[in-house]
Amino acid sequence: MVKQTIQIFCRVKPTTKTTAVYSVDSEEQTGASLEFVVPKDLADGFVNNKRESYKFRFQKVFDHAVKQDDIFETIAKPVADSVLAGYNGTVFAYGQTGSGKTFTITGGAEHYSDRGIIPRTLSYLYQRFSQDSSMVYTTHISYLEIYNEVGYDLLDARHEASRLEDLPKVVIMEDPEQNIHLRNLSLQQSANEEEALNLLFLGDTNRMIAETPMNQASTRSHCIFTVHLCGREPGSATLRRSKLHLVDLAGSERVGKTGVGGQLLTEAKYINLSLHYLEQVIIALSEKNRSHIPYRNSMMTSVLRDSLGGNCMTTMIATVSVDKRNLDESISTCRFAQRVALIKNEALLNEELDPALLIARLKREIQSLKEELSMVTGEQRDDRLTGEEIQKLEELVKAFLDDPDPEVTLLLGPDMRKIHYCFSLLKVMIREKLAGGTGQGDGRVSPAAAVWEDTQDSLSPADLTKLKEMLTQRDNEISILVNMLKKEKKRAQDAAAQLANITNSHSLASQNALRLSATPPMEERSTDSISAGRGGRATQWKRGPQLSMGKQEAFDIFRRDHEDRLTIEDNKALLKQRLAEARTLGEQVNEARNRVNELKKQLEMRRMQRAAHGVMGSYTEVEEDAAEENLRKQMEEEKRTYKSTFGCLKALRTEIEHLQLLLERAKVKLQKDFQEWWSQEASSLQVSESEATGRCQTGRPCQNLLSSSGTPGFGTPSVSSTVRDFPAPRDSSTPSAPDPRSIVPKSVPASTAVSAWLDKPQEEREMAFTASSELRALSTTELSSSSIPLTGDQQTDADILAFIRARQSLLNRTDEKESSHASLTWLCYAE
Ligand code: ADP
Ligand code: MG
Repeated sequence: MVKQTIQIFCRVKPTTKTTAVYSVDSEEQTGASLEFVVPKDLADGFVNNKRESYKFRFQKVFDHAVKQDDIFETIAKPVADSVLAGYNGTVFAYGQTGSGKTFTITGGAEHYSDRGIIPRTLSYLYQRFSQDSSMVYTTHISYLEIYNEVGYDLLDARHEASRLEDLPKVVIMEDPEQNIHLRNLSLQQSANEEEALNLLFLGDTNRMIAETPMNQASTRSHCIFTVHLCGREPGSATLRRSKLHLVDLAGSERVGKTGVGGQLLTEAKYINLSLHYLEQVIIALSEKNRSHIPYRNSMMTSVLRDSLGGNCMTTMIATVSVDKRNLDESISTCRFAQRVALIKNEALLNEELDPALLIARLKREIQSLKEELSMVTGEQRDDRLTGEEIQKLEELVKAFLDDPDPEVTLLLGPDMRKIHYCFSLLKVMIREKLAGGTGQGDGRVSPAAAVWEDTQDSLSPADLTKLKEMLTQRDNEISILVNMLKKEKKRAQDAAAQLANITNSHSLASQNALRLSATPPMEERSTDSISAGRGGRATQWKRGPQLSMGKQEAFDIFRRDHEDRLTIEDNKALLKQRLAEARTLGEQVNEARNRVNELKKQLEMRRMQRAAHGVMGSYTEVEEDAAEENLRKQMEEEKRTYKSTFGCLKALRTEIEHLQLLLERAKVKLQKDFQEWWSQEASSLQVSESEATGRCQTGRPCQNLLSSSGTPGFGTPSVSSTVRDFPAPRDSSTPSAPDPRSIVPKSVPASTAVSAWLDKPQEEREMAFTASSELRALSTTELSSSSIPLTGDQQTDADILAFIRARQSLLNRTDEKESSHASLTWLCYAE
């Protein structure tokens, strides 16, 4: 127990105004004094007996030039130290508004050097925690504001408090032992200085926001910032709980001076009331033989009961302003301090026993005593350990290993069987750990574990965990890539099989073969399947069975002649190449991993052999070390390979993903273009057909009918507009390129020759295009590439040419007559 009167200090606030006459005397051995000299005032017209000099004694007086760090060192640090030792401590600032209470307790808002007692104390406490490894501390913080006899929790983070009333109200409770409890006051744990400072900031912000000019809470309220400490020596059952209150009291000015009515007066009265009660408590405490102390008269005195005349080391800072006009208040502040200085406190070490820890300790003691006893009586056992006993021992060893306390002992008693069993258990555990027993019971060692083991000497546990995770992730990546490749292969095979079926059964087999040779099926499928495999991110390309045979054919040609074709092809080729590379890399990674494992086994063998030789005393250290070193180096090398290959694989994956995205986008665009073109084509055909039908019925020439023909009598220039959006073939010089316009079968008149052409397989039709150059030469008029192609069959082609020639001469003859009813009617109804 420490008996001590409340320590009083005085701080003079710097001022630019005219100061009263004052002097600070710090030379005195027992402390310091502050003296105010008041000139005799005769202006009142009568001889007064006012004293000239007022002298007050303090532990120390800090004149205006003293900085915050000095204040902390002298006033707050000793209190913080006693709190660390397990005593309660309080520092409170008392003085009129504007005298520097908040500046002293919390600090100025602008400069770092203006930090007040609270932040400096927090910093100091956490610094001490980290220095003192013999104690484990936990810290909680509370911040209470008392305004008009109501308490508010300033650390309430839930509320965006715009008024003080928005904050949770704190209620005082007293238990049967007359201990004070504050309900609704949150105790926030703060693990470090930063968290504690954040809490201070939160509280001050709440305090600031809640304040309005009409309600200047900061000058009329008391603020109590409390650090709750709990310290414990590791392994000890004794807890030390202590509290440090840092108190910024309301302004101590008198009501008379406030001189305002209404709300403000009420507030002022309250403040003075509560400070008045504080004064009463202090007077009561300073008087000998007073049994009743009126703590309960106000909330503030109730909360600070321990700090005033109780179990606490308390320090008061009287803040004074030495401006002439504040002289009265300064003197009354000092007077108050003189009374406070008389109060004796009795600070107790707040030690308590943690029942749970105590029980554990006592149990250990009993066990130890029992063992001692059996040792003395020599009672030894030689039967085998029961299953139950073995299980118990295993639990004991586990608890022993898990306990962070370095002084924990494994109490087994004088039973050699148990001692032996625990030793062998420990040996097994250590060996398991050395062999990479990271919880994998099956004995297989993952590559991650391999790396982990080998690097554990040089890396920190955090690095190891990271590396381990990375490797597991990489392993997954490889298997995904390898799986993907396998699937591709299968799909390609499936496609080939399907293709073979089609070839056998379908009349268009040769045509398909032609088309597929231009676009290898595997390539095609692989991109499709990738887009499916990627979670269906892209729209699937609707093709194949969904398109009619004619449309499919049109699409194939459309695609082949599309302007993006080359880019798509390039990307496909690149993707294929990259996938192959990825497969190779995946294999390489696996190989590297296997080699690392192999080397590891060899290394282990070496070590075991060396240990065996060591026992027999027959090994040459230098030799063995060189061999081991060599293995180690090889392993390092392989690991580097593994890592770099992995890096490549990852980079490759990014590229593959990008390529896949590009392809998906191109596919979607191609399909969209085709659909647009197709529907445009279809609608314009409908128009031309209905037009043609209409004209034929009215007897007018239906010239539009033969849309595919470039032959004058067979078509008109307007027809070509129906296909104007068709992408131009990339290489128009290739005469064998089939003209897409020729694949609109319905628009072609069913002349015998033409329908014969249509009936022929694509292959033959394509060959007919070569023959069309022949037609060009033969024809009297120039035939465009879109003219009716020949069949390739000599007889049929001769018929066609004969027909065209005959038709031409007929047209020439009937030219001027405007109508050639016979042929036109034939054309109209031919279908
Ligand atoms: P109180 O809390 O007692 O009403 P404040 O701490 O708010 O007074 O101080 C009033 C003003 O004086 C503030 O602007 C503060 O920064 C300034 N101040 C007070 N004490 C000092 C000091 N020792 N050094 C510099 N400025 C001070
Ligand atoms: Mg203040």
